[in-house]
Amino acid sequence: MMKEDYDIFGDVMVFDTTYRTNKYNLICAPFVGINHHWKNVMFGCAFLSDEKVESFQWLFEVFKKSMGGKCPVSFFTYQDQAISNAIEKVFPETRHRLCLWHLHQNAVNYKLENHPWFNRLYGLKEKWCTALSKDLFSAGILSSQRSESSNHAIGFSAKKNTSLTDFFGIFKEMLKNWRNKEQKDEFQCSRSIPESALPLTGMLKHASEVYTLTLFRDFEAEFLKSISSSSTLILVEDRMMVYNVSSHDNDGLSHRVIFDCLSNLITCSCKKFEECGFLCYHCLRVLHINSIVSIPESYIKKRWTKFAKSEIWDKFNSTVGRSEKFRDCIPWR
Ligand SMILES: [Zn+2]
Repeated sequence: MMKEDYDIFGDVMVFDTTYRTNKYNLICAPFVGINHHWKNVMFGCAFLSDEKVESFQWLFEVFKKSMGGKCPVSFFTYQDQAISNAIEKVFPETRHRLCLWHLHQNAVNYKLENHPWFNRLYGLKEKWCTALSKDLFSAGILSSQRSESSNHAIGFSAKKNTSLTDFFGIFKEMLKNWRNKEQKDEFQCSRSIPESALPLTGMLKHASEVYTLTLFRDFEAEFLKSISSSSTLILVEDRMMVYNVSSHDNDGLSHRVIFDCLSNLITCSCKKFEECGFLCYHCLRVLHINSIVSIPESYIKKRWTKFAKSEIWDKFNSTVGRSEKFRDCIPWR
């Protein structure tokens, strides 16, 4: 199941080695991802006896091999040179990002202007500054208000005197809870149409049909902002239209949207789609002006939809089908 979850949701991964919760003082290192309901999924968990580059390199290589060679797009860790070096070696194409919540914890002292840690941190700004990493998918993990709560949810309820076998029990229990939650979310999504203060027509209706409830709420918020924003057409060249879109209620910042009216391809300078995987209100505004009533297919990321796990369902159904057929052949039934 972890491998299957990684195949679907392994584009973003969080790796945390801050747990030393067992009596052998081994470092517990879980690999955690985010599912289509914006909840945690476990990709794997390791124990390390030290934090050397070679150890992390070995671990990442084993992890990569067991996951069929797939590499994450964005990989979040806390600030550690050994982890950073190991990622560069094993996942050279992956964007290494630093978890802001760990940085916040380290930055609680003041008078940091000449502090070596703070200066080193500034040198690494590409790894933590949200404004500098909008070009690659990260599920919006740093810019979302959910990142804080997801951090706390990874915590294991193990203590310093927990043995490895006890830990395995705790780990299994936690996984069971996470998977039960996912099943409940799946059930709710399959059963209900989301309620909205806005009429469920056009693009919003389409969003309610494809997205999970959590993502529908995100989309709805963008849709609402698109209604109150204003746009100016500044250039038309063949099939390309260029707009400036700005909102009145926020900071008044305007963004540049380029729309190809033949292919329905659309890009925005805010790069929300690239970073978070759903369209921003700037794009929604322009699509609306151009009478587009459904979300163009290329802007629906399957990992955020109700059908994110459809391939697993198909596989499961075919296995169940086979075993049922097999059962029918058993003479003593
Ligand atoms: Zn935008």
